[in-house]
Amino acid sequence: MLTKSNTDVWKEFLSFIQDKCSASEFQNWLAPIQAIEGDVLILEVPNIFVQEYLIGNYKKDLAAFVPTQSNGELALQFVISEEKKDIALPLISTPTKEVENSDTTHLRLNPHYLFENFIEGPSNQFVKSAAMGVAARPGRSYNPLFIHGGVGLGKTHLLHAIAHHIKSHHKKLKIQCITTEGFINDIIDHLKTKSMDRMKRFYRSLDVLLVDDIQFLQSRLNFEEELCNTFESLINDNKQIVITSDKPPSQLKLSERLVARMEWGLVANVGIPDLETRVAILQHKAEQKGLRMPSKVAFFIADHIYNNVRQLEGAINRLTAYSRLLNKEVTEEIAETTLGELLQNAPQKRISVENILKCVAALFQVRISDLRGTSRVKEVAFPRQVAMYLAKELINESLSKLSSSFGGKTHSTLIHAWKKIQEQVEKDEILKRQIQMARRNLEE
Ligand code: ADP
Ligand code: MG
Repeated sequence: MLTKSNTDVWKEFLSFIQDKCSASEFQNWLAPIQAIEGDVLILEVPNIFVQEYLIGNYKKDLAAFVPTQSNGELALQFVISEEKKDIALPLISTPTKEVENSDTTHLRLNPHYLFENFIEGPSNQFVKSAAMGVAARPGRSYNPLFIHGGVGLGKTHLLHAIAHHIKSHHKKLKIQCITTEGFINDIIDHLKTKSMDRMKRFYRSLDVLLVDDIQFLQSRLNFEEELCNTFESLINDNKQIVITSDKPPSQLKLSERLVARMEWGLVANVGIPDLETRVAILQHKAEQKGLRMPSKVAFFIADHIYNNVRQLEGAINRLTAYSRLLNKEVTEEIAETTLGELLQNAPQKRISVENILKCVAALFQVRISDLRGTSRVKEVAFPRQVAMYLAKELINESLSKLSSSFGGKTHSTLIHAWKKIQEQVEKDEILKRQIQMARRNLEE
């Protein structure tokens, strides 16, 4: 029987996979891989990203072509051609235009995202002061600063505010403010033009690196290592890093090494602003737009748009346009008809510590007075921590107010309880269900 050579096997794999991926993906990632004859199939890849890309995306498909060894791994080896400088392989076969030198990349910052335009309240006071601390003393306060929170709550605003402040107060510092997508694209461009060294030099020469939306790295694992190395190199040199994300580090599907790096400094949450802060935001934005808005109207809007500041801004834009067009003052009725679907149906149900204690007491069969008390017996202490967790998650109040509602506990007790339950929820399916049930009861 005629046995197939390893290079034939690779060719077959390529023609099989060509139909399964896009032309550019094939050109960029798969075509540059060369098969070398040996006892097993040896693949020469231009760099580690291509190897990780292949294994990360096509391991299962490869298994249909390449035999499996006794240890369960594919009978496959990689050599990286970058290491052998004399055999540099083109990463892409079509000529590409010269990539813009990163050194000349200017900062693209939103001019309105300044600290003075960021309205603070209990839900974002802490994160704003951390951001201001970092901007005042880059590399010397919290490093990295990790900002997380839901959509439209001001993460990018704070990141740009840090950049603006540093730009005007520390003129000599070299800053880069980039989205995670931008960083990935930068890597891809530099790989194509074989100028990774230049990119590495650029990133490692920064004094401040600001990275927006790190959650987008989750599905792009091939690029994790480069970012992690950059972080490590900068942090070792006391250079400032700030990262934003829609989730805390522990909930991101990223390597332990990167998560540990991100948790190293300060992790700060930007929460949903409470009613008074929403009203203040609306009034600030209205004033900037030159819209006169009676406070009754501001309260009405803030009561109906409660979990996204971007939507509050959308409401102001719409009302400004309306009042300019018709030359009319805005009233509650006008707001209601003009804003229509922007308004969330029922105003957010006010959840109180009292409700939470009642609900948790029923769920864990303990007395409310015990939850407020000081007993450390596990049967009481654990439900108390669950109640504290729910209070921090569901009520937009300052930590000191919340903790005093628990019979005068300190706010570090509350934070400790919140962290502990947050970690445990991820591992403990029963607790997760109990908390879901409590949330449903409270929010209904
Ligand atoms: P994220 O990055 O968290 O999704 P953004 O930073 O893009 O949110 O914020 C959305 C919009 O809401 C921006 O226009 C921002 O200026 C505004 N915004 C968010 N929080 C505040 C705040 N506390 N005060 C003033 N404006 C805010
Ligand atoms: Mg953002």
